[in-house]
Amino acid sequence: VAGVRVVISDFGGVLTNPLEEAFYDWQAASGIQLEELGNAMLAVGERLGENPLYRLEKGLLAEAEFERLVEEQLREQLGPEIEFVDFAEFYFSRLFPNQPFLDFLHEYKGGGGRLALLTNNVREWEPRWRKMLPIDELFETIVDSGFVGMRKPEPEIYQLTLERIRELPELGSVEAGECVLVDDIEANCAAAREFGFAAVRYVGSCDDVLGELRPLLVV
Ligand SMILES: [Mg+2]
Repeated sequence: VAGVRVVISDFGGVLTNPLEEAFYDWQAASGIQLEELGNAMLAVGERLGENPLYRLEKGLLAEAEFERLVEEQLREQLGPEIEFVDFAEFYFSRLFPNQPFLDFLHEYKGGGGRLALLTNNVREWEPRWRKMLPIDELFETIVDSGFVGMRKPEPEIYQLTLERIRELPELGSVEAGECVLVDDIEANCAAAREFGFAAVRYVGSCDDVLGELRPLLVV
């Protein structure tokens, strides 16, 4: 097994606190159960041919249009008085840097490790999440689903990430097995392993994660 020379980090739930907190706060503020929201996504998805959240994350649906479609569906399910509370406001007001993991990334980079970012994100959110953290200082390449028309766990986005990594200077030829994805969503990790990357799920404490990650690293 080749040792890992490149760490590919997810954004939400890895460089930040877990996302679930924001979802539950949104539920409380909007008065809309997450189950109802899930049902609305499914209903809109049936009409579009794909889950609207996936289309949003692939940059194929504008945020305003996504909100309009979901709100319209929620009104059908729950009544005309329903208003779709802006999720982005909620999300960003409850989002904080995961400092212990960021410290690790700085240390890894300082020791010669190479860093890529692979995020399922919303195109319109880019200015907000990028200014939260020293993204450009840390990561040599950034693959953002909202700008590339694909998203994790689609294999094509892992292929694109590997191609971007192979273009980095002074890295030489890189095999997929020399890269590890750190992601909080199991389906993303499973698909990454299928593709040939190593993968570590970000779950539990940062120490738990580093306990799994460090033994894989040769740099
Ligand atoms: Mg995530």
